[in-house]
Amino acid sequence: MHFDTLALRATHQSDPETGAVAPPIHLSTTFARNEANELVGDYTYTRPNNPTREALEKAIALLEGGAVGMAFGSGQAATMTLFQALRPGDHVLLSTDAYYGTPALLEQVFHPWGLTYTRVDMSDLDAVESSIHENTRIVWCETPSNPMLTITDLLTVSRLAHEAGALCVCDNTWATPVLQHPLDLNCDIVMHSTTKYFSGHSDVLGGALVFKRNDEFAQRVRLLQGLSGAVPSPFDCWLVSRGLKTLGVRVRAQSLTAQAVAEFLDGHPAVEKVHYPGLPNHPDRALIQQQMNGPGAMLSVQVKGGADEAIRFIGKLKLFTRATSLGGVESLIEHRASVEGPTSATPKNLLRLSIGLEHSEDLINDLAQALSL
Ligand SMILES: *Cc1c(COP(=O)(O)O)cnc(C)c1O
Repeated sequence: MHFDTLALRATHQSDPETGAVAPPIHLSTTFARNEANELVGDYTYTRPNNPTREALEKAIALLEGGAVGMAFGSGQAATMTLFQALRPGDHVLLSTDAYYGTPALLEQVFHPWGLTYTRVDMSDLDAVESSIHENTRIVWCETPSNPMLTITDLLTVSRLAHEAGALCVCDNTWATPVLQHPLDLNCDIVMHSTTKYFSGHSDVLGGALVFKRNDEFAQRVRLLQGLSGAVPSPFDCWLVSRGLKTLGVRVRAQSLTAQAVAEFLDGHPAVEKVHYPGLPNHPDRALIQQQMNGPGAMLSVQVKGGADEAIRFIGKLKLFTRATSLGGVESLIEHRASVEGPTSATPKNLLRLSIGLEHSEDLINDLAQALSL
């Protein structure tokens, strides 16, 4: 079956008791036993398991092609739970431009707790190989990266990880399974902030992990999920499941518009550089064609000048909302260095765009008027 059909099948189960076509939301925190003290269903208590969460977890696992999926209260909760499954003394290798919250967790929480980590430019495969040590348990990739849209060769990096006995994890939030299947490229675990494209409407926080195999490590993460309760509410699970039904159409439409916007910006005299996987001048063009089904709906642009010019430009936009985050139906723009703060290495003239579902001509006209003033 094609992705769109799978997404609908995975999230649509009419309720056998009532015939309700939209699935019910099971808000109950606790589940009853019969006269013989046996559980009526497969559930006891909502922290370890809940039917609405389980439906979402199965759908996400199916869409990523994994054996088991787990839903969390945020992307960061998913990442945190994965690192909690490691042991003091273990080492994590992480890309230099990973989502800033991932190294922040390693530095602020897990370094004091005994994990070590190294950051490396994942496009330098020799550097990746020499940074993997015998205590490396996880090699963490994020592709396309944030905010420079560089691409990591998942097949090669996962091979290097496996040769050293480490697991390869891919944060697939930006690409989504519509555009990229890390488990097919031999990664072991996929991580998502479901806050972004999965929910798609900027109204729910969530995260997910999908494991290629339901092995001992996956079981340990499942145990930690249930023990810690870093889980989404049933209503949030239901919202993410609803978002999944339209994931394919949204991501494809948003990608097409992003391509048009990137091409417009790329030729504009007020623009220094556009970072977008769909442009022919992207340095990782061959890799993009090999491992992605499309360039996605995220792009970054460096305007001519510095922070002042960048901020003046976005101040004049009427259709883009100036806000952080991504993956919703409305287009957002942000001055990334301001969001990342004084330690940011992001160029001061860089703006990150999350392209939504507005018509491409309207977005381009808005960008044109803001750049020409
Ligand atoms: C937003 C984001 C996260 C963190 O997810 P939250 O849901 O905000 O906790 C992790 N990785 C990437 C790539 C993201 O965009």
